[in-house]
Amino acid sequence: MGEAKRARSATAKLLEQHPYCCLCGGIRIATTREHVPPRALFDRSHRPDRLVVPACDDCNRGTSTADLVVSLVARWRFDEITDSEAYDHSRLAARLRKQAPEILSEWTKLGLIDRKKARRHLREHGLDIPLNGPVVSIGAKTIPLLNLFAHKFTLGLYFDHISQPLPSTGGVFATFKTKEDVAAKGMPRELVELFPRTRALLQGVWDTTEQFVYRYDENRSEGLFGCLARLRTGLFVFGLAVKDLSWLPAAERNDFTPPDRLLGRLNDPAFGRRAA
Ligand SMILES: [Zn+2]
Repeated sequence: MGEAKRARSATAKLLEQHPYCCLCGGIRIATTREHVPPRALFDRSHRPDRLVVPACDDCNRGTSTADLVVSLVARWRFDEITDSEAYDHSRLAARLRKQAPEILSEWTKLGLIDRKKARRHLREHGLDIPLNGPVVSIGAKTIPLLNLFAHKFTLGLYFDHISQPLPSTGGVFATFKTKEDVAAKGMPRELVELFPRTRALLQGVWDTTEQFVYRYDENRSEGLFGCLARLRTGLFVFGLAVKDLSWLPAAERNDFTPPDRLLGRLNDPAFGRRAA
């Protein structure tokens, strides 16, 4: 069987078993298999065929720029990148230039003085950036996309672990951290200890742990799921999903987004802020 034909038959099989999109609370019919995290995150966009979830056209299209942005940000690192990573990075950046040029402008808008300032700031936080290392600005255009991705990612993993879409009675709380955040403060120990189990994308002897790994905990009967993921060297995602928001105290409910409202939050000012 050719690759295209195999992909078509895998899609048909998944959609037969799970006809509703797992990213918008199952309110729309799924039409495609969505890779969570995306193929572009992996070397040469090549990844094991696990963590593939049913999605509708709206969610697929509505999160594609976020996927691309994450695939680039996750490749940023303090030390020098390999030739292979540089190749992938320039290929993906070219795609982003076509799809959302305003994001690339935001990353590169720092002038020489700002670059020096940014570098000094990072050095004061104990991060000595090599002069050839990228110093970029993650700002108002990038942050909502990283937040969107963190939520989508948590919904995708929820589906994979619980075997049904998070319903619109439920909600997701998710945040991201960059490598600078983690290098400056580390990962909170209580967060790491919260999730005892670790999982990576494996297929036979093919192990992609260096590119992606996550810790998690789940309670299938109560529809609770939480995860802490590392995406390559540059990005970390923390997420919680709850099947029924009415179980939470009212004050905490506001932090959670019902899945059917997720795409609409891209223009919400609160989504443009980074979590503390
Ligand atoms: Zn959807």
